[in-house]
Amino acid sequence: MASTTNMETVALVVNEPKADFALTPIVLDEVRPDEVLVEMQYSGICHTDIVLQQGLLPMVEFPAVFGHEGAGIIRAVGSSAKDKSLAVGDAVLLSFTTCGDCKACTSGQLACCHRHPEVNHGAVRSDGSTPARLKSDPATTVRSQYFGQSSFSKVSVVQEKSVVKLCSASELGSGVKPGDLAVYAPMGCGFQTGAGTILNVLKPTSADSLIIFGMGSVGLAALMAAAHLKSTQPNSTMLIIAVDIVPERLALAKELGATHTVNGRDHPAGQANGHKKADPLADAIRKITPNGAGATMAVDCTGRLAIIETMIAAIGPQGTAAVVGVPPADASIQLDPLTFLLENKRLIGVIEGDANPAEFIPQLIDLHRRGQFPVDRLCKVYPVTQLKDAIHDMHAGSVIKPIIDWTVVE
Ligand SMILES: [Zn+2]
Ligand SMILES: [Zn+2]
Repeated sequence: MASTTNMETVALVVNEPKADFALTPIVLDEVRPDEVLVEMQYSGICHTDIVLQQGLLPMVEFPAVFGHEGAGIIRAVGSSAKDKSLAVGDAVLLSFTTCGDCKACTSGQLACCHRHPEVNHGAVRSDGSTPARLKSDPATTVRSQYFGQSSFSKVSVVQEKSVVKLCSASELGSGVKPGDLAVYAPMGCGFQTGAGTILNVLKPTSADSLIIFGMGSVGLAALMAAAHLKSTQPNSTMLIIAVDIVPERLALAKELGATHTVNGRDHPAGQANGHKKADPLADAIRKITPNGAGATMAVDCTGRLAIIETMIAAIGPQGTAAVVGVPPADASIQLDPLTFLLENKRLIGVIEGDANPAEFIPQLIDLHRRGQFPVDRLCKVYPVTQLKDAIHDMHAGSVIKPIIDWTVVE
């Protein structure tokens, strides 16, 4: 690769809210000392990318390149990169970035960075600049550091903090097969979010009953992590209750270790009409738990308000409910505070599985290699030219984790 200043490439630019992801020539200004240049091989599509494209996250400005799950090859390393092992040719995975200065960052709780929203969703460098501009109109800059990386680009200028080294050039093709990069691309968001919520936060034991709402990529990653934990507990009686509305996804959940499945179509959810009204979905789930007492823990991966209400109703005394799916902005849920108090319930938010990606992603890859985290079953690869099909199939429920292939672009 020649000069790394004013480099031309193509990216899926969204020009304004609700506009299509359009494969567009862009120019990248330079690679700064704390950045690396990454040639993308694969990008995972996360539901959040669609929320962004629709303009539903208020802090995002346009035009912009989204994408926050990526796997690629380093083409240049900034002069002051902290990780001295980073080299041209390394295979890397991309994850979120951090401010580096707040209480959470300095204590190593990177996912809890107090400035997480602005440094990740702002999609610009800390000085407000952005690497990309339109080739057709050089005066128009394009926000191109979403999550510090914007992986929906053939080549992207990425913050070093967003990079997790997978292997060196010499190990690529031997230890790590190039096709593995497609399956590993979503490790940096969807898979670590689901698995981390279970392995880093909830940590269910043999005595627990766990409900997972939403069998998309996050929920199924959570389910696989729970099933893995259960397999390490001799004679474990852990209950894993999977809830969704798509029968095929519930069947997959059963194959991957769910002890029970509940189809939400059979039981209305939520208490939005008042707390005295019944919540048939919560009742159906509680019946599965020992003595009908309610589950000890639950994860919502849907972001749907009625489901979050059901989740809180379906856990029992001392139960913990975790909000993981992204709810709409400026929304509210209804909560019966007296029951919440008397039953000592806890409601928590968990971003990115409370993971430190550089430590956690290698653990997930190790689990995958041992057959304990079979996320390849969720992935389907599409050439970037078939992006519309990929998004359609994700919405239709026929594919759980679509992956964009950038190797088809010259
Ligand atoms: Zn921070
Ligand atoms: Zn995501």
